[in-house]
Amino acid sequence: MKYISTRGGTAPITFSEAVMTGLARDGGLMLPEEFPNIKDKLTAWSSLSYTELAYEIMKLYADDLTEGELRTVIEKSYATFRHPETTPTKKVGPVYILELFHGPTFAFKDVALQFLGNMFELILNKTGANLNIIAATSGDTGSAAIHGVRGRKGINLFVMHPNGRVSAVQELQMTSVTDANVYNIAIDGTFDDAQAIVKTLFGDLSFKDKYSLGAVNSINWARVLAQVVYYFYAGLKVMKETGSEKISFSVPTGNFGDIFAGYVAHLMGLPIDKLILATNENDILSRFFNTGVYNVEGVHPTISPSMDIQVASNFERWLYLHAKRDSKQLCDWMQQFKETKSLTIGNPDELDEIMVAGKADTAKTLATIKRFYEECSYVLDPHTAVGVSVALEKAPTSPVICLATAHPAKFPDAIKDATGKSGLATAAEIEALKGKPTRKFELPADAGAVAAFVIEKLQ
Ligand SMILES: *Cc1c(COP(=O)(O)O)cnc(C)c1O
Repeated sequence: MKYISTRGGTAPITFSEAVMTGLARDGGLMLPEEFPNIKDKLTAWSSLSYTELAYEIMKLYADDLTEGELRTVIEKSYATFRHPETTPTKKVGPVYILELFHGPTFAFKDVALQFLGNMFELILNKTGANLNIIAATSGDTGSAAIHGVRGRKGINLFVMHPNGRVSAVQELQMTSVTDANVYNIAIDGTFDDAQAIVKTLFGDLSFKDKYSLGAVNSINWARVLAQVVYYFYAGLKVMKETGSEKISFSVPTGNFGDIFAGYVAHLMGLPIDKLILATNENDILSRFFNTGVYNVEGVHPTISPSMDIQVASNFERWLYLHAKRDSKQLCDWMQQFKETKSLTIGNPDELDEIMVAGKADTAKTLATIKRFYEECSYVLDPHTAVGVSVALEKAPTSPVICLATAHPAKFPDAIKDATGKSGLATAAEIEALKGKPTRKFELPADAGAVAAFVIEKLQ
């Protein structure tokens, strides 16, 4: 399988090269040249374990690795999860909850970043190269990336979070890691500012080459790939259990990475009825799928901070496929968006028949947490609650699997606001962080300042 850029300006490259490149050299995002159709494998796949299924899916895309290499990376990556099923699904009230938070940092980002950390190590061991990762985080990617690469030889990680805009637990999960190869940068700005700095630094090709820059944000194809697995795993299980021929998923969305992985599962032949895109007040994507207009507004800080994003980088991948892989059309759209901060694609009814979108504001999110706690004795984290709230509103006829993207113990204040009770959601690993020494570097939201910091630390 070869990988090409959405912007059409690069020669096809292998999976390993795509993983190391992160953002394509022409500023686009990497995608496989085609999506294999696996409809005839669904029955066989429905009885596989998580890691067996991961191997079957990933080998279609990572065909430049040996079977032994890929199986070892997968086994190592999911051995760190606290649940034997890696990502279990539970029936809770009217929906299914797909628990993606049993990894080291209690958010779904671990599913991809444990895999990516091991994949980097495998590839660097083969080439003898070094990698300096530049990342932006709205809260959870940061700690998951840190736990994916901390202490690894040949890798440094520079991770920017918006100062004061992540939850206290999220900040502590990042800054309490004081390994020499991890630099936590608190920038004076928003997640979108941090993401724009990543893109600027990657856009300076001589800087990128000189300092061997790598990416762990969902611009990296390996992250999307790792997330495709749980759509199949949960979808096949719920179809088997209910006898339904189709399933729907509800996905709390920020950067469009997670839901794009669901979209890939759909393109490969998983019978998805609806993909429900759920946002908080930062609803650029839900407005887009309802109106056909993609336009930026200001960022609102919310109780689901990992979704406080306006410009969703993976949306470019959907746009490219929507343009039927016409790079010229995609480039025109990106240029128009860059110049006017707005893009009109067309009639919302004809955009995409499987996508449905909606938003849940803070009041609805808190009410959903309260209702599930009181009626089902189940504590939803605020991100998951956004997805559940929109799923109940859209109510497709097929069974709905709601992605639980974080453990509620990461957001104790929101749980208390919703239920009036404290201590409902705790985790010993998170409690143990309190009082630990921390380290962070404060910088302005400026690409030049971040570049100078990177250069200084690498000397
Ligand atoms: C990152 C994150 C999201 C958003 O996922 P995207 O792939 O950016 O759309 C949702 N919930 C939680 C808890 C997250 O950490």
